[in-house]
Amino acid sequence: MQEIKEFPKMREIYGSLVFDPKAMKQRLPRDVYENLVGAIEGRQKMDSGIADTVALAMKDWAVSKGASHWAHWFHPLTELTAEKHTAFVTADDNGFPLETFRGEDLMQSEPDASSFPSGGTRSTFEARGYSAWDPTSPAFIIKSPKGGTLCIPSVFLAYDGSPLDLKTYLLRSMEAVESRALKMLKLFGNRGVRYVRATVGGEQEFFLLDRPRAQQRTDIRFCGRTLLGSPPPRDQKMEDHYFGSIPTRVLAYMEDVQRDLARLGVDLATRHNEVARCQFEFAPNFTEANLSCDQNQLIMETMRKMAHQHQLRLLFHEKPFMDMNGSGKHINFSLQDSEGRNLLKPSSNHRKNVIFLSFLSSFVMGVADYSGLLHASVSTPGNMYRLGGHEAPPSIISVYLGQAIDRIIKEIEDGNCDGDMPAKNTVDIGLSKLPEIIAFDSDRNRTSPIAFTGNKFEFRAPGASQAMAVPVTAILSVWAAGLEKFINIFEERINKGEDAIDAALCTIREISQMNRKIRFEGDAYSAEWHAEAERRGIVKARTIPEGIDLFLEPKTLDMLEEMGIFKKKEMESFYVIRMESFVKNVEIEMSVLRDMIWEGILPALSKQIILEKASCSSAEGCDLEGLDAWKGHIAKLAKAKLDLMEKTKELVEMKERMAKLSLRKHADALVEDAVPLMAEIRKISDSVEIYISSDNMAYPNYRSLLSLSA
Ligand code: ADP
Ligand code: MG
Repeated sequence: MQEIKEFPKMREIYGSLVFDPKAMKQRLPRDVYENLVGAIEGRQKMDSGIADTVALAMKDWAVSKGASHWAHWFHPLTELTAEKHTAFVTADDNGFPLETFRGEDLMQSEPDASSFPSGGTRSTFEARGYSAWDPTSPAFIIKSPKGGTLCIPSVFLAYDGSPLDLKTYLLRSMEAVESRALKMLKLFGNRGVRYVRATVGGEQEFFLLDRPRAQQRTDIRFCGRTLLGSPPPRDQKMEDHYFGSIPTRVLAYMEDVQRDLARLGVDLATRHNEVARCQFEFAPNFTEANLSCDQNQLIMETMRKMAHQHQLRLLFHEKPFMDMNGSGKHINFSLQDSEGRNLLKPSSNHRKNVIFLSFLSSFVMGVADYSGLLHASVSTPGNMYRLGGHEAPPSIISVYLGQAIDRIIKEIEDGNCDGDMPAKNTVDIGLSKLPEIIAFDSDRNRTSPIAFTGNKFEFRAPGASQAMAVPVTAILSVWAAGLEKFINIFEERINKGEDAIDAALCTIREISQMNRKIRFEGDAYSAEWHAEAERRGIVKARTIPEGIDLFLEPKTLDMLEEMGIFKKKEMESFYVIRMESFVKNVEIEMSVLRDMIWEGILPALSKQIILEKASCSSAEGCDLEGLDAWKGHIAKLAKAKLDLMEKTKELVEMKERMAKLSLRKHADALVEDAVPLMAEIRKISDSVEIYISSDNMAYPNYRSLLSLSA
């Protein structure tokens, strides 16, 4: 029997590596603590004089936990995280070791910005940037085998103040939505609310493979997905993987991940198998948007490191395997006020439900006006293969509200605001029954990219490998814009002396008539919907580069500039980074595919042909009938070999030719010519894969890759 080891209890370790309010309270003088917490909650400005005190307390706390270094931790536009470590200990003038960490170190640090992409905002020689402490996300310690690093969540800016990171935009979008939400609540007469926070919870899907086996494949090593290989027939249907018991090996991994993350104050509430073989999901408890995006980075980072230790290969790619489910990152979101009320939660109180519907329809309005921004935010290389197939939502953005809400909205729409609303009675009755109806309204439409799920929205299009900050910024920007539009109508009505609730219902009516085109309750996979969406004019882009173009839709740029979220120039830089990343990604796949064919598949075919040829010749003396079929088979293998040689040559030439094109043309050319050529090559290779003996096989095949038993 295996010995059962005792592990520390989650409750005991939770948050032990986070400089959270509890640690702050213990280590800071009371006035400093109160000023800092006040600043974090947005109640007061941070007193610049407290930095030294906070830094000292933070350092002592970190050193007591074994940290030897500190770093500003930020999200450059690459969507990864970056940090530059500095030791706490330096030598003083007399050569004695001295521990220092000053207020100015905490507030600002200067990592060299020249190697982070900036989309051409600055030339490399003048590239200097600085990172600045973001006190709203608590500092934490990343342990390493020999010590640890105090990580200070930060924004990252160029010296001219233009952001070089994702967090700055996210924080701006949070402010945009908060100020409008507060205004909305005030118009409803709710004056006591101090702040409104966006809440976010991201469900993280991923694949886990046996590392030694997976690392034998160049495509997995360099692209995080398979470029070759045919799925075993009916693979997924034969599996009862979903919600089945988690393989022991994976469970051990998950438990280690959960424990490490608990120390960092990340509560991974749920874990389960996903639909495809070797696919799983983690979902943390939701929290405030900025922290949630930081936590998702920590989740991904911790998962990566731990996979290594467990001899597992972790894949966040959106589509690692052909004809199987891909991995997404469903982003759940809502707004919460300072009293802890979820503004998207229906209640049995009529007035509260009108407020709820006002926030809900404002979001739908924002989506109707700026669906392009949401579309752009999920237009990533990995999503090229994921969206629109195998349970992933299509790339056409629409909103699903569910039967109960849809009916109420329609009743309000049918009403009339000149006198009494004819539908008012039904609406009144319906509204007070909302929570019960929704509880029974379990019809969760998995085909919709954005769905209302009872007390929050869920954006299902984001890809598993994406940084959450981009789609969350898009969501909050769009919501802020919708709120703005709602408030303009609402406020005018109130100024005319209308009662707030009546004015809100009439505004919901007007807004809903305007956003009807984006609402869809049916099957978003169906051909009818695609035709209907075309008629409604909501199909925005057909390819990933076209999707990225949507960042630059003039009305989106105007909106973002007006809201103070992105300046036009900033968005243009971000656009270039996104487009370049798409191009690089496909280019890498082209090279890797070429190499795999020449290094692995072609030699394997040769060996197989020799084997078949020799044995066929031996059989020739046996006076057998039907040898022609055998020869035909050999010819088929030889033909595949010739075709692969020719097509890969074409691929290499194509890559060189395309490299001369301008960025945007390059991206189109890749989609139009390179991606189909790669698919052709794959098809030829996969068609002969099943005829290669296991001795001659170049790479572990799907069946072997997708088996986790050691
Ligand atoms: P599902 O059925 O889609 O898995 P869950 O209830 O498990 O739904 O929630 C999924 C995610 O949504 C979790 O991360 C959860 O914390 C988050 N979530 C729940 N309520 C909210 C909310 N009000 N705001 C933001 N995220 C939320
Ligand atoms: Mg969900």
